[in-house]
Amino acid sequence: MRIDCLTLFPAMLQSVLEESIIGRAIKAGLIDIRYIDIRDYAENKHNRVDDSPYGGGMGMVMQAEPIYRAFQSVLQTSTSRPHVIYMSPQGRVFNQSIAKELSKETHLVLLCGHYEGVDERILEEIVDEELSIGDYVLTGGEIPAMAVIDAVARMIPGVLPSEDAYSEESLYKGLLEYPQYTRPPEFLGRQVPPILLSGHHENISAWRRAESIRRTCAKRPELLQHAELTEKEKTLVAQLLKQ
Ligand code: SAM
Repeated sequence: MRIDCLTLFPAMLQSVLEESIIGRAIKAGLIDIRYIDIRDYAENKHNRVDDSPYGGGMGMVMQAEPIYRAFQSVLQTSTSRPHVIYMSPQGRVFNQSIAKELSKETHLVLLCGHYEGVDERILEEIVDEELSIGDYVLTGGEIPAMAVIDAVARMIPGVLPSEDAYSEESLYKGLLEYPQYTRPPEFLGRQVPPILLSGHHENISAWRRAESIRRTCAKRPELLQHAELTEKEKTLVAQLLKQ
């Protein structure tokens, strides 16, 4: 997958995304992340890319023209039209199923706003959808873009050791993940649940499933509306929610 980030702060994205698992996936050629500095597409002496809002008001607005030119430069090296996302607190709220959906795209462009945001006309001209990472306002779209790239990239085949590495995790199938433990078997008097040391895979699986359901009921009961549950599990949920 190719991902182009249109941003005023490419170094911010690069420093984070080139570390750890995503960094290794880039080196292995599984993802091609490109950082397009919108300022390189300013056509004035001081490389200005923002101006005050028409109609007055606080702050500055990113101008449409440099963003448009930056986007055209992406199209020049692309064989098909990419899916273009504007990171915005006004967008659809990002979640695991949107990440899964996006991981099937071959080319994404993420537009990161800053200051008061971007001129509305660039959204009308190039953007396919707006995505928010939650109901709060950040100073720029770079952190949201990194969150989206990380969540999407780890579902690209080959980035994690196997599909199980993400399909068993919280939220993938509408449930939170079961509790995890590692060595030592005792920590400050707290024991690892004995079943996990039993070596009995079927029992461990059943215990994990029940724990997943139990903690989803306790922490995020609203997720259960979309979880795939057997009839027996639905009865367990009903009992847990009554307590
Ligand atoms: N004036 C804008 C509004 O009220 O909708 C907010 C602008 S915000 C200060 C600057 C930029 O940060 C936005 O253009 C957007 O790219 C990004 N941003 C802020 N909060 C975000 C969020 N929750 N999700 C995604 N992007 C966000």
